[in-house]
Amino acid sequence: MSSGLILPGEGVSSVVKHALVILLVEDSPFTAEAVRRLLSDEADIHFHYCSDPFKALEMAEKVDPSVILLDVAMPEIDGFTLCRFLRAHPRTRDKPVIMLFGSDEPLVKVQAFVAGADDYLIKLPDKIELIARLRHHSNAYFVKMERDKAKMALRIGQARIDFLSGQVTELTRNDLLTGLANRKTFEERCNELWSLAVRNNIPISLLMMDLDYFRLFNEHYGHPKGDETIRTITGVFRQSIRRPSDVLARLTGEKFTALLPATHAEGAIHVAELVRSGVENLEIPHCKSEVAYHLTISLGVANAIPSHGTKIDALLKLAEDCLDKSKEAGRNRLHIAHLDESDMPVNL
Ligand code: GH3
Ligand code: MG
Ligand code: MG
Repeated sequence: MSSGLILPGEGVSSVVKHALVILLVEDSPFTAEAVRRLLSDEADIHFHYCSDPFKALEMAEKVDPSVILLDVAMPEIDGFTLCRFLRAHPRTRDKPVIMLFGSDEPLVKVQAFVAGADDYLIKLPDKIELIARLRHHSNAYFVKMERDKAKMALRIGQARIDFLSGQVTELTRNDLLTGLANRKTFEERCNELWSLAVRNNIPISLLMMDLDYFRLFNEHYGHPKGDETIRTITGVFRQSIRRPSDVLARLTGEKFTALLPATHAEGAIHVAELVRSGVENLEIPHCKSEVAYHLTISLGVANAIPSHGTKIDALLKLAEDCLDKSKEAGRNRLHIAHLDESDMPVNL
């Protein structure tokens, strides 16, 4: 007789071949020998016998049975107690257990199921019935194992998909070189925070930041060094612009911006000066700069208390203008302006 399993309607479409491994836990060697003989014609059934119930777990771990045949009446430990123990142990909790009784007593059968047994047989069972039950329980066990494996593979696959889609989201929202928000993310956050400032009538400030003579830096020190330097400068931004509500972004090549909600002009100047001096204090050599021996940064700061119907574009434009003024005035400095109501374009 073959042990090949065809599992229609079980969600497993392949044919799975397994040998049946039977572990009999039984104190009587005579019963054990009788069971062994009943199974001896079945080439695909591997029979193991354990006479000491205290070694049942150790033996089960070793032979990995597809069914455990468990005698009820044993000295020192009864089959019910051992069954409960096997059910509780992670290595045996899924193993089908068939209990063997000496008599046809309903109360004993009930106790067997309460202890966690899957089935019972009266000793000595009929050969055909014994083999049929061993095959039935083994097959159910193999199906469960295959299904658990498939579920685990599915969970691992799902975890991989979640991880990758998280990475894709990260890539679409953040700049690759610095990890800062990109322009698209910045614009989204800007609109939200501007609306919030309008609703609550609170100030909002914006920094526009650009490294000085960075084209010459790249030409002289090379593009890879330029990239490394941009990452270093990003560290200064992160240290200086620290409120959780602040939005720090890389707009283009080496132009950065920061939106500071609920921040007055004084606060914005303080942050801008932290950035400017932070970059200066790094003392990154820049022999081609016309303003210093090291790399410097220029900033434009714009501030507003926005009102209903206005848009953030005017603040961005004002910050850009302030940045241009800092560049014109000699670089390595900041320039600030306040946005008047009359400067603000109104939404139609
Ligand atoms: P200014 O003081 O007027 O700002 O002069 P600048 O040379 O810095 O001029 P600008 O800001 O227009 O130059 C941008 C330069 O920044 C161009 C390019 O060499 C460099 N740059 C832009 N993006 C990157 C980047 O991702 N990596 C590197 N290494 N360099 C970049
Ligand atoms: Mg016994
Ligand atoms: Mg520049």
